[in-house]
Order: sequence, then structure tokens, then C-alpha cells
Amino acid sequence: MPEPLPEPADEPSTASPTDEFARIEVALAHVAADLEERGILAGGEAQDVLNAQALMAADPTIAEDIQARLSNGKSADRAVFEAFAGFRDLLVQMGGYMAERATDLDDVSQRTIARLRGVPAPGVPESATPFILVAHDLAPADTALLDLEKVIGLITREGGPTSHTAILARSKSIPAIVGVAGAEDLADGTIVVLDAANGTVDTEPSEAELAEVRGAIAERADAAAAPLTPGALADGTLIPLLANLGSADQAAEAVALGAEGVGLFRTEFLFLDATEAPSVETQVAEYERMLRAFVGKKVVVRVLDAGADKPLSFLNDEKEENPALGLRGIRALRSSERILRDQLTALAIAEARVNRYGSDSAAGGDAAAARDAKVEVWVMAPMVADLDDTEYFVSLARELGVRVAGVMAEVPSLAVLADQVFDVADFVSIGTNDLTQYTLAADRLLGSVAHLQDPWHPAVLRLVGMIGRAGRDAAKPVGVCGEAAADPLLAVVLVGLGVTTLSMTPAALADVRGELARHTLAEAQELARAAVNATSAAAARQAVTRLAAANAVG
Ligand code: PEP
Ligand code: MG
Repeated sequence: MPEPLPEPADEPSTASPTDEFARIEVALAHVAADLEERGILAGGEAQDVLNAQALMAADPTIAEDIQARLSNGKSADRAVFEAFAGFRDLLVQMGGYMAERATDLDDVSQRTIARLRGVPAPGVPESATPFILVAHDLAPADTALLDLEKVIGLITREGGPTSHTAILARSKSIPAIVGVAGAEDLADGTIVVLDAANGTVDTEPSEAELAEVRGAIAERADAAAAPLTPGALADGTLIPLLANLGSADQAAEAVALGAEGVGLFRTEFLFLDATEAPSVETQVAEYERMLRAFVGKKVVVRVLDAGADKPLSFLNDEKEENPALGLRGIRALRSSERILRDQLTALAIAEARVNRYGSDSAAGGDAAAARDAKVEVWVMAPMVADLDDTEYFVSLARELGVRVAGVMAEVPSLAVLADQVFDVADFVSIGTNDLTQYTLAADRLLGSVAHLQDPWHPAVLRLVGMIGRAGRDAAKPVGVCGEAAADPLLAVVLVGLGVTTLSMTPAALADVRGELARHTLAEAQELARAAVNATSAAAARQAVTRLAAANAVG
């Protein structure tokens, strides 16, 4: 387990503040350069995270704070420690997404102090054999460059499901469980079974359990090596498998892993650091970059989902007591319609530009080639509650040139009213992360109620079933783009409930593709009936696992 450096003692310093500051400036510059270099080596999403961390090391406000502490007689180590700790506390107080960036700041602080002391920064231990890494927390800089031949799993004491460590581990397909109380008590060399899908750590597995786990690992390796065929059930029913992305930089990897398009493009990730609303031109450039990577495919773009765990300063500046129940998603956009209008306009322009270019370059008037050279853009709104929100969004989207407009089902009221919503919306995409949070009234970022944050809960699945039925009656598509779609067996249940496409982190595509291929539609419907009739999430998971195993044997 990597140990953090001990806290620098708070003793008066006799060194010259000017000399000490010069030393600190050099250390910070080295840390920033090292983080950028690690970003270049890691590429993709990790590079964005590490570049953001490098900016923290170069932040003039933190430098000024350090300088003031040196003038007050603090030692170099202590001044750095206190300044970063102060900013860390500010982030923690902001809560949600910002609070989970606190670890990134801690890491910059530790690297700088290590540099000042001339010792190596705390990092990942060396080992000759593959191992599960147990850490108090892991810095993005370490997660990004983990040796995947050696580190086969990750358990941390700190961190929530949306911390950078968790996000990067997911994108690298490393099974990881964060926020495990007592993780630090695990002794080196303990045999551990880590089941990231179910969030369990078994420290005393029996021989029989170990044999079962080895079988599951071998099956997973087969799924990852299988050819990239379109998502389909055993009877040939097509279930397109799409990717959840937050930036155009992730597009190439998603395509390489067999994504048949994008089911959720989270546009707010592009603007998390923006202090004012991005211009139409800035947005067009970003969207065009994304759309060009998916020519010949479908891209479902979500308009800005600001608020709660993803605050955007230009959209949510009011302090709210319960931000998850406040002015977020479509509610925030309705109160700042100019921002929504600009975004819809930018999306319509980006689609037109990509498709005009596509048809110009298509081979000599060949209709099929022209179609294949186009990208299909669908646009949806988050946190839609009812028909009024739906009518508002769909009519504005059409007015501004968007051709396919739908809504996300994240608020339970939308599921209850799904038949009315389908009269207006072209499609519905179910965000099971928020739908679970709101159905069970359990904050998705809070470890103490994590046991209720389970999309296997029959209450959540019954709501999915209501949307599935309404979609079938209206002959319109129903997608799932929450984390539930990345759980292979739950994905089959969702299809049995009437879901027609599944969108997930690209790393999960192979497992889900493999599991779908093992069940017919009739079997998926049978599994879905067992799940909705169970009395708890655990009972639903157990009933479906048992039935699926029996079907496989029979
Ligand atoms: C969801 O809520 O399931 C979803 C896909 O949106 P996000 O996780 O970005 O809130
Ligand atoms: Mg959501």
C-alpha cells in the first residue's frame, strides 16, 4: 500500500522567505512538467485530468498563499502543505464533483513536498507478480500510468464513484472499488476476491469460490477477444451498443472497442472550467470534432446538465440547500434560455457542416456512400419531469434546426407519464444513475446510503418497464445510458423490459456484447419478470443470476 508522506512539522523557520519561495517555485514547475509528461504518455481522458492537475501546480493564487505563509515564518514544506490544504478544504465545502477534485490537489501538494525534500513522491509499489493494489487513495497521475500487467485491481479507502481515480480506473477496465472502510487494515499478501460489479471485497475466499472466480476471469478474457460484431441477442434481435463519452478525445478508443455510435455525449464536461457561457462558434468547433469521428453512425448529445454534482458557474450560481432537487438540468436551462438556444443552434450547425462535407466527398453521387458519410445527431434534455418540460424542449429544438429531439428519464415522474411524453418526444433515454437516486431518495455521492443506490432495485426496474411499454406502444426507441447498462446481466434484464439500445463506458462493451449473445428475447423477458417481482435489489440480482445459469445449462 503506498504511504502518504508524513505531515511537515509546524515549527518556526529561520530560512530566508525569498530563497525558500524560489526553491518552491522550481519544485512546483517540476511537478507541473512531470504531470504534463505523464499526461502525454497516458493520452486520452487521463491527459485532460493530468493537465488540469498541472494547472493547479501553476496556480498564482496558491503561489501567493504560499508566499504569505513563508513571510509569517513557516518552513517551505509547511507553507506548501498549509496552502494546498486550505484550497482543498474550499473544494470539499463545495461538495459533489468539486469535492472529489480535492484528492487531485492533495497529490500536487505531496509531489511538491517530496521534491523539496529530495525524496521520491509516494507512488505505486513494485512487485514481480500481478497484484490488487490497496491504497488510502490513488492520485490520477498514478492511476493513469498503472502497469496493467501488474495491477489487476484497485481498492481505495477514500473517493466516491465519480472521483477521478474511479473514472480513470473504469476507462482502463481495471476492476476498482473506492471508498472501502477498513481497506488500510488489509495485510500485504492477503488473497482477495474483488467483485467491482457487485461492490464486494472477499478477504477469505474458499477454494471453490476461487475456482469460480478463475472461470469468470477466463470468460471475460474470451469476451474481450471476441470479434466486434453488432450488439445482438441469441435470436438475432439487434440491440445497438453505444458509448458514453465526455470529450471528442475518447472517440477513437470507443470505435476501436466496437461502439456502434454514441448514446450519451455529456457536453457539460467540455465546459466545467468555463466561467462564462461558451460562444456558439466555440461549441460548433467542439461538436464538429466529435461528430466527425462518428460519421456513418448515430450520436446522442445531451444538452448541458449543470447543477448538483456538475456545477457550471455560468448556469448555477445560487447556493441551494438540496442541489440535487434544485435548479439543475432542463430546469436551469429553462431559466437561462439564451444558453440553451445557443447550444441547440451550435449542434444544428455542427451537424449541417459535417453532413455537407460528408455528402460532397461521397463517391460520385452514390446514395449508399452518401448516407454512410453522414452522422445522425439526436439531442436530448436531462432531468425532464413531465409533458410540459418535454413540449418546451422538443419545440425549441425543432425551431432551432435539430431534427431528432428526445428526453432523459431520470425523474420518476417521467416514467409514470411516459405514454404522454412519447406523444411529443422522438425517443427516451433512461439515466439510471439519477433515476435510482430519485426513486430511492438516496444521494448518489453519499457512501452512507450507497446500499440504496442500486439499479437492480425492483422499484427502479418497474419504472424502466413502464417506459419500455410506452415506447413499444408508440413504436419509438428507448435507450439506457446510466451505469446500469454496463452491468452485463442487468443489461439483459433492461432489454427484457423493452429497452432497445444500451450506452455505456466503452470499456464495458465487450462484456455486455458477450452476455446479450447468450440470451434470446423470450429469455430476457423471463429474467425481467423475475427481477421486477423480487422484493429487493439483492433478491432481484440473485433470482436473475440463478435463472440465467439454469437457462445456460438447459
Ligand atoms: C444518469 O443519471 O444515469 C446519467 C446518465 O446522467 P449522469 O450520470 O451524467 O447524471
Ligand atoms: Mg443524470
